[in-house]
Amino acid sequence: MKTALYEGKRKIKIVEKPDPIPEKNEVVIKVKHTGICGSDLEFYKTGLWPEKGILGHEIMGIIKELGSEVKKWKSGDRVTIDPALPCGRCYYCKKGGTNLCSGTEAIGLGRDGGFAEYIKVPERCIIKLPDAIPDKHGTVFDQIGTGLMALKKINFKIGDTAVVLGMGTIGLFLLQLLKISGASRIVVIEKNINRLEVAKRFNPDLALTKVNHPKIKRIVGRIGATHVFECSGSPQLVNAALDITCKDGNVIQIGLWDKPIEISITKYVMNQIRIQGIIGCSREDFEFAIELVAKKMIDPEPIITKIIPLDRIVEEGFESAISPNTSDIKILVAP
Ligand SMILES: [Zn+2]
Ligand SMILES: [Zn+2]
Repeated sequence: MKTALYEGKRKIKIVEKPDPIPEKNEVVIKVKHTGICGSDLEFYKTGLWPEKGILGHEIMGIIKELGSEVKKWKSGDRVTIDPALPCGRCYYCKKGGTNLCSGTEAIGLGRDGGFAEYIKVPERCIIKLPDAIPDKHGTVFDQIGTGLMALKKINFKIGDTAVVLGMGTIGLFLLQLLKISGASRIVVIEKNINRLEVAKRFNPDLALTKVNHPKIKRIVGRIGATHVFECSGSPQLVNAALDITCKDGNVIQIGLWDKPIEISITKYVMNQIRIQGIIGCSREDFEFAIELVAKKMIDPEPIITKIIPLDRIVEEGFESAISPNTSDIKILVAP
């Protein structure tokens, strides 16, 4: 089979590998779509992920072959994959925080991922894709799930106000989740015009290319926003977030960067602001995300800007997505 092998910073090449053969509790899936995630882009840009391997954890496909002990599924079933492989035994797994499991392996991180024609995964990772969801929308659930995890962690309430910094995939899903969760006012900020235009289709109360305190406060009120979601990974915006959050409010940090940054501790102490980090989601969030898409409460369509063949994954995928004026948001690879 054809695969895209990651070999470190700015190095991915197309190589042939033997087709996977399932172990007794595994299934082999013909991959139809795999999304390029922000974390995949980060590894490609920085070489941060140390191992050679096949990336890609946002996967939808069709079951091709079953291991000898897999009974509940049949060849031809349409499925999506929860890439997490929590150990089930550690402190966090027992508390239900499986996204914090001390085990590090996941599909596309340590185990071969979805930038390949076929993938083998443990049976427990596969989830049936409802008929109401088209194939190309079958890859977005961990991103919606991350937004759900964020809203739960901060105990989001009807009538709360929100600012979302960064309209990448997670920001755009958060915007939609805030709408259906009863946010009274929503401001979004994104410097890339293409992304801002997509955001406007989901009707935020205000969409800006940069942080403008008077304009934001005109919408969310003089005290500032109840919650500010930092989804851009831009260091300047973290301090801006502290400025536009109301006292006793939340800054929710979802964007990532590889170097330490300076923040104003005084501001966050004096205003009694909580900074809440969010990484990934639980199985429960993942499955609820599927339901929201199936019921058409969340729409992935405007966020998916391109579907490309595996052969073009470097030029039209990774390189295109990291170029500064990209019009890409979510790129799907169709192996
Ligand atoms: Zn992802
Ligand atoms: Zn665990």
